[in-house]
Amino acid sequence: MTLSPSSPSTAADWQALGARLSLRADCFIDGRFVPAASGARFDCNSSIDGRTLTAVARGGKEDIDRAVAAARRSFEAGDWRSQPPRARGRVLRRLAELIETHADELALTETLDMGKPIADSLAIDVKLTARCIAFYGEAIDKQYDEVAPTASTSVAMIVREPLGVIGVVVPWNFPMMMAAWKLGPALATGNSVVLKPAEQSPLTALRLAELAAEAGLPDGVLNVVPGYGEEAGQALGRHMDVDAAAFTGSTDVGKLFLRYAGESNMKRVSLECGGKSPQIVLADAPNLDAAARSAALGIFFNQGEMCSAGSRLLVDARIKDDFLERVVSAGRAMPPGDPLDPNTRMGAILDRVQYDRVLTYMDGARRDGATPILEGGPVEVHDGGYYLAPTVFDAVTPDMQIAREEVFGPVLSVITVQDIDEAVRIANDTIYGLTASVWTRDINMALKTARALRAGVVSVNCYDDDDITTPFGGFKQSGFGRDRSLHALDKYTDLKTIWIELD
Ligand code: NAP
Ligand code: MG
Repeated sequence: MTLSPSSPSTAADWQALGARLSLRADCFIDGRFVPAASGARFDCNSSIDGRTLTAVARGGKEDIDRAVAAARRSFEAGDWRSQPPRARGRVLRRLAELIETHADELALTETLDMGKPIADSLAIDVKLTARCIAFYGEAIDKQYDEVAPTASTSVAMIVREPLGVIGVVVPWNFPMMMAAWKLGPALATGNSVVLKPAEQSPLTALRLAELAAEAGLPDGVLNVVPGYGEEAGQALGRHMDVDAAAFTGSTDVGKLFLRYAGESNMKRVSLECGGKSPQIVLADAPNLDAAARSAALGIFFNQGEMCSAGSRLLVDARIKDDFLERVVSAGRAMPPGDPLDPNTRMGAILDRVQYDRVLTYMDGARRDGATPILEGGPVEVHDGGYYLAPTVFDAVTPDMQIAREEVFGPVLSVITVQDIDEAVRIANDTIYGLTASVWTRDINMALKTARALRAGVVSVNCYDDDDITTPFGGFKQSGFGRDRSLHALDKYTDLKTIWIELD
């Protein structure tokens, strides 16, 4: 991961840039920043040191109503959806360029807001957000509709149409990127959107909306209402004039969106939810060092605050001791540090609530009899911030809470297996099915295992390598519907048949 040559190269330089940032903190509705109708605001604190960055508008039902009305008006007027796909694509590509032009500012805002290392914000969050928006901008004028194989006395066209107003609700772990995975395909297909970012990380979404306007997106097509889940999020989920809800977040809240839809207008719902992803390492893994580094990164990247975190390591008994030594040393090489230092690989935990939650899981694991072989735990980096070093528990059994529930922190559970059948059985013994991996030299074994694992993404001899061209999403209670790739277009469009009878 490299910083661009023009980016600040020290924590002090990033801090200096931070002092000059002007943060957007109001709702963005119909092309303008406006305060919440109630006038209420909430503090937006930095995960780095707890400092209040700004007070953000606390959007509620009335603001969601205003935003949905603006989105509906722009959709009905055809301001965006009636533009030729090529013209919509041009606006999205311009937005991608603006994201790159403002890379330092956006990366810094993300790091200040939710604590991830600045190097990752730049190389992952900003870069992949721009790539995602550009991908849909490049793709949308290359999609063709269909003509059905009817008798020559008729013509049946099958056309794709945008759904209308899309409600997007996203979490705080990759705030900009999770939003982009929805905005790219939703906007490319001509929909209008109301986005509610997580209350802990609303800042980049607001800036993104402003940049989209600068790129030429008409007023009302993209609205952002920051606020609390129970207020703004629920109002969006229950809104009678929202055609689809696209959600990323926890499985519990995902289920609420299904309920909101059932109790309101039966809006379409797509869900990207939690995970408890297995990483299987067999005795014939081609490169134990690479596998160990990958296993460590798979759980410790982004402080473990990752839906696709490979939180269960299922390792073959024959190589276990050797392999765990390597995993522990890879974990030791990722101590938490100042998120603004470009050399830091692990940043701050989101906040006190998340930190306490992770510590509670660690206590539970010890009580249940798991053995800590890398005792991470709290580290002092900045007063007012919460930092946890990588932790690895050995002797975890599949029934323990630490093996079953999503921790969303830098905690790896090791389960020893005797053979591949046992590994697959344990891997699939979860309510989740987001990602999985298997390390083996045997192509036959790799493919059979990939087929047997019930997960939306299975990696062989790598972990969670991905690209905007491939779909991402889960089986089982990890949700349904796919982000990324051309398949994501399906979530934001409906098929219409137009049957023409000829004379
Ligand atoms: P969360 O609590 O479910 O929140 C996600 C979003 O839903 C936030 O915007 C939140 O707003 C909103 N929300 C909360 N309660 C709501 C309610 N009653 N009605 C409507 N909206 C509500 O998840 P999180 O803690 O932010 O993020 C962590 C979770 O996200 C993990 O489970 C992780 O696995 C999952 N995740 C999944 C993916 C994926 O692609 N599968 C990617 C990233 C994260 P507030 O912030 O105001 O509460
Ligand atoms: Mg939350």
